Amino acid sequence: MGQRKALPSAHDWHVLSSDEALRTLGTSFANGLGNREAETRLGDYGPNTLPQQKGRSPLLRLVLQFHNPLIYVLLAAGITTYWLKDYVDTAVIAAVVIVNAIIGFIQEGRAEKALEGVRSMLANRATVIREGERHEIDARLLVPGDIVVLEPGMRVPADLRLLSAKNLRITEAAITGESEPVQKGTEPVDVNTPTVDRTCMAYSGTVVSAGLAHGLTVGTGIATEIGRIGMLVGEVESLETPLTRRLDHFSRQITVFILTAGLVTFLYGHFIRGLSALDTFLAVVGLAVAAIPEGLPAVVTIVLSIGTKVMAQNKAIIRRLPAVETLGSVTVICTDKTGTLTKNEMTAVRVMLPSRTLEVSGVGYAPEGGFHSEGQMIAPGLDQELQALSLCALLCNDARLVEGSEWQLVGDPTEGALMTLAHKAGLTPSDFAAEMPRMDEIPFDSENRFMATLHHDHNGHAFVLIKGASERILDLCLQEQVDHAAWEARMEDAAAAGLRVLAMARCEMPMGTTALSMADISRRFTLLGMVGLIDPPREEAVAAVSDCQRAGIHVKMITGDHAATAAAIARQLGLKVHRVLTGRDIQLMDEAALAQASMEADVFARASPEHKLRLVTAMQAQGEQVAMTGDGVNDAPALKAANIGVTMGNRGTDAAREAADLVLTDDNFATIARAVKEGRVVFDNIKKSLIFMLPTNGGEAGVIMLAVFAGLALPVTAGQILWVNTVTAVTLSLALAFEPAESGIMLRPPTPPSQALLTKPWPCASHM
Ligand code: ATP
Repeated sequence: MGQRKALPSAHDWHVLSSDEALRTLGTSFANGLGNREAETRLGDYGPNTLPQQKGRSPLLRLVLQFHNPLIYVLLAAGITTYWLKDYVDTAVIAAVVIVNAIIGFIQEGRAEKALEGVRSMLANRATVIREGERHEIDARLLVPGDIVVLEPGMRVPADLRLLSAKNLRITEAAITGESEPVQKGTEPVDVNTPTVDRTCMAYSGTVVSAGLAHGLTVGTGIATEIGRIGMLVGEVESLETPLTRRLDHFSRQITVFILTAGLVTFLYGHFIRGLSALDTFLAVVGLAVAAIPEGLPAVVTIVLSIGTKVMAQNKAIIRRLPAVETLGSVTVICTDKTGTLTKNEMTAVRVMLPSRTLEVSGVGYAPEGGFHSEGQMIAPGLDQELQALSLCALLCNDARLVEGSEWQLVGDPTEGALMTLAHKAGLTPSDFAAEMPRMDEIPFDSENRFMATLHHDHNGHAFVLIKGASERILDLCLQEQVDHAAWEARMEDAAAAGLRVLAMARCEMPMGTTALSMADISRRFTLLGMVGLIDPPREEAVAAVSDCQRAGIHVKMITGDHAATAAAIARQLGLKVHRVLTGRDIQLMDEAALAQASMEADVFARASPEHKLRLVTAMQAQGEQVAMTGDGVNDAPALKAANIGVTMGNRGTDAAREAADLVLTDDNFATIARAVKEGRVVFDNIKKSLIFMLPTNGGEAGVIMLAVFAGLALPVTAGQILWVNTVTAVTLSLALAFEPAESGIMLRPPTPPSQALLTKPWPCASHM
C-alpha cells in the first residue's frame, strides 16, 4: 500500500454543508466513486484498519509459563537438590521445567494464533454506493469519498459526514462511553462543537441503533476519531476460561496437599524412623515431583484450541474462548425460526384477495408459473385486485431479482418471494420505478412488523403502500371496509398450513406529500389482500432437534412469526406444541409465571427482542444454561444475557455479532447442535487427561511415602519419577487431548456447570 496522503484541506467536516463535503472529496451522492478511483484512493490512503493490539511479548509469555504454584514447588525442589549436590536430579528437574515451559509456550502461541485466525474470519462489511450501485464490500476497502449506507444494527465502518438521515440514532459508546443512543441529522454545526455534539457526523466504531442514513466517508483507518484517540482493535483475549480458573484453583489445592504430605513424611521419616535428614529430604523432593501433574496446563490449552478449531471447521466460530466449554453444559437452546430452522427460501403459494383466493404455481425465485382459481388458470392482467396487490408487492420492496443461468435474489427472502409474485402477475420494477418513484419509506423492523413506502405518480397523486404481519396490517385498515372475522379465518387457515402470511394495504395521501412518518401509519388503509409463503424446515434441523432432545437439551422456537405458522412448523420439526405462548401472553405474565411457562412451552410466537431477554432471564432463574440466537440490533441484550449468545454470519447485524459468543457462518440450527457436541468433547477430553494423570502421579507419590513410612530404601529417585512423568504427560495424556467424541456423547444429559471436574465414578443422584 502506498503512503497515506493527508486528506484535502478541510478537517472540520462538521462545519461543511453536505454539498461542500462532497465537492471536496470529488464524489457524488447518487453514484459514489467509480471502482477505478476507489482503487487509486485505496493506494493513496491505505486500508481502513486500525493497528492491531499487540499480544503479550514472547519473552513475557515464556516467563509466565513458570508462574504456577506447581512449578514453584518443582523449582524449589531443583534448588534444594542442587544445594544437596544431587546434580543428576537437579539436571532432570531443570530439564523437565524447561521442556514443560517450552511445550506450554508453543501450545499457547498456537492457541492464540488459532483464535486470531478464527476471529479474522469475521471481517467487517460495509454497504457502499459505487458506480451508482449498492455493493457490500469488506470494510477494510473503504476510502475517503465512498458513500456508505447505514441501517439499524450496523457498525459505522469509518468516519462519515452524514448526507441523509432518517430517524437516525447512533450509540456512541465506543467513543464517548455514553450508552444512550443520540439523534443524528445532516445540518452542519459550529466549528467549536465538541465531538460528542457533532450531530452531522457518524464516527467509526459506533453502532446504528435505529433509522436509515447515507454518509460520506471522510476518514478511514487511523485518520478516524477512534484512531486518533488511540483505540486498538482485535484485543487479544486472554486464554483464561472458567475451566482454566477451576484448574488453577485445583493446582493450588494440590500444592498445599503436596507440601503437607511432604512435611508429614519428612517429620515421620526423620524423627520417628530415624532416617538421615538428607535422605528424607530427597525422598520428600521425589514425593513432590511425583505428585505434580506437570502436563496439565498444556493439555487444557491444547484441548480448548482444538475445540475452537474443529468448531470453526464446522461453521461455528467462537468469539470468546470460555464459550467452548460453556457450550458443553447448555441445557436449553432458544432459536429463531426463519432461516435457522427453516430454509429461508420463500415462495408465495397462496394469494388471498378480497373476493377470492388464488393458488400460485412455480418454485424458487424464477418468475415462472401462474395463478389458479379452483383448478382453472387465470389471466393475471385481467384481475384488478391481483394487479393492485402485486403493485404493492413490487413497490413496497427492497429485494432485487437478477437473471442469470438461474434467478438470483439480492435482499431479503420474504421480499424476494413477493417480487417473484409481482413478476408472475406481469409487473416488473423497470416499468414502475420511473412511473411511481419512491419518495420516502419506513423500513421494516421486527418491532413494528411492517414496511411502508410513499410514492407519487405523474399526476402528483401521492399514496402509501404498506406490507407486514397480517394482524398488524388488519388493525390499520378502515374497519367498515374489512370483515375482520372473515379475514382472520382465512389468515388462520393459511397459517395452520405452515404458511407465513403477510398482508398488504394502500392509502391515498394529500397531493404533494413528500415525507412519511409514523404518524401517517394509522387506521386509514384499504386492505389489498394477503399472501401466504412457504418456507420449509431444513431437513438437517429436524435431525438436529431430535439429537438435542436425546441429549437432554430443550429446544425452544422463539419467532416473530404468527402463532399458527410457528406451531405448524414446530410440529414438522418435532417440537412440543401443546402450548404456544405469544408476545402478548408474555407481556401479561409476571416473572414467576413466566419462569414456569418458559419451561413448559416450546414455541413462542410474535415475540420481540424484549421478550427474548425476559425469557432468557426466566429460564436462567430456573437454573438453566441458555443458548439464544438473535440477529437484529435489539437482540444484543438477550444475546449478552444468555450463557451462549449465538448470531448468524449472514443475517446477523454487527450489533448482534458484537454481543454474541458464537457466530454460525451458515445460519443453521444444526450447526449449534454440532457445536454443543464439540463443547462436550472438550470437557470430556480434559476430564480424561485428568483421570489419567492423577492416579499415575498419586501412585508414584504413594510408593515413595510408603517407602519412607516403612523405613525402606527409596524405590525410585526424583529424577527417575520426573522422567516417567514427562514421558507419560507428553505422550499419553497429550494423546487424550486429541480423542474423538465418544459414541454416546449426545445421548447423555448435560453436565451441570457447578459439577466438580472429577466426580465419583459411581452414579450419584444429587449430581445427575
Ligand atoms: P424469526 O423471528 O423466526 O426470524 P420472522 O422472520 O417471522 O421470524 P421477523 O423478521 O421479526 O420474524 O418478522 C416478523 C413478521 O414481520 C413476519 O412474520 C412477517 O409477517 C413480517 N415481515 C417480515 N419481513 C418483512 C418485510 N420485509 N416487510 C414487511 N413485513 C415483514
